[in-house]
Amino acid sequence: MRIINKLHKRGLALFMALVMCLSLVQVTALAEDEVVANDVIISEDNPQEENTHEHSYAGTVQAPTCTETGKAVYTCECGDTYDEEGEPATGHTPEVLEAVAPTETETGLTEGSRCAVCDEILTAQEIIPATGVVIPAEVQAFLDAVYALYDVPTEQLLQAVEYAETLYDLLTGEQKALEEVYQCKTALDSFRQTMTLEETVEDTVKDEKSLKEAVAKGGTVKLCSDIALNATLVITGTVALDLNGYTLSLADGKAGSVIKVDGQNIEFTLDDSSIDGTGKITGGKGGSGVPYYGNSGGGICVLNGNLVINGGTITGNTAITYGGGVFFSCSGNFVMNGGKISNNSAVGGGGSLYNLEHLP
Ligand SMILES: [Zn+2]
Ligand SMILES: [Zn+2]
Repeated sequence: MRIINKLHKRGLALFMALVMCLSLVQVTALAEDEVVANDVIISEDNPQEENTHEHSYAGTVQAPTCTETGKAVYTCECGDTYDEEGEPATGHTPEVLEAVAPTETETGLTEGSRCAVCDEILTAQEIIPATGVVIPAEVQAFLDAVYALYDVPTEQLLQAVEYAETLYDLLTGEQKALEEVYQCKTALDSFRQTMTLEETVEDTVKDEKSLKEAVAKGGTVKLCSDIALNATLVITGTVALDLNGYTLSLADGKAGSVIKVDGQNIEFTLDDSSIDGTGKITGGKGGSGVPYYGNSGGGICVLNGNLVINGGTITGNTAITYGGGVFFSCSGNFVMNGGKISNNSAVGGGGSLYNLEHLP
């Protein structure tokens, strides 16, 4: 069909006015209007035949967007259609996307912007790399001091550990909480512990000479071997002897006590830290060296001082006079918390234990 728009043109002016009115009103959704115009339609097949059809347009108005002009589209059910240009595009409404400063470990962002209406990114934010961890000099010094411990010669280790500990003490609580600092402190503590253990090992004794030296120094003395003494072990200071499962004896053919305790206000403690409790004192053939008690206390002869027995077995000792196992004078206190005194013998009295207080 051919359409002749004679009156249509006249109608257009009317439509235009209508569109203008619609545009003035805030249109956010679709708006519809009925518009009527008179057109004369002539059949293509028979141009002479006039057929009157009254267009009936339904108009749809589209509001402008940030980037697109608004428009009105009119359509008649006959298929006739036309557009009207509406309000111009509004343009974007920029909104600032704030910059984010980078940290030591997190990346940052430059300032950007986007449209507050349509969310289109107008200026893209760019990634700013992380600044990287900046380690303060005092923290680095401590870390270096700890790492250096692994290469320090043994004889300089104590000094190096103490140096690292000094540096650690200078750190703030916040610095001490840093992961690497924490790990290095743990390593440092291990070095310190190892050295403490080595010191303990140095205190353990394997032979008569080192035993006498350790006893002379005082404190805790731990056997790490059986020892057969050539002479009585004389205790003159406060000493805790840990038999540690080993046997302390007087060598065959030697006379005297295995141990003689003789010191004012001192304490001799006998202990056995071994699991099986196999530590023992044996082979003593009493002899205090003091005329009246001569040949007393085969295992342990206490002339002066206090005696504490927490462990260990005193066995197989002899004395001609008193106390085959233990001879204890009345000068101090004798406490027995554990251990055993058995199978000792004495001719004078107190096969195992002779306490002078019991003398008539
Ligand atoms: Zn129509
Ligand atoms: Zn926009």
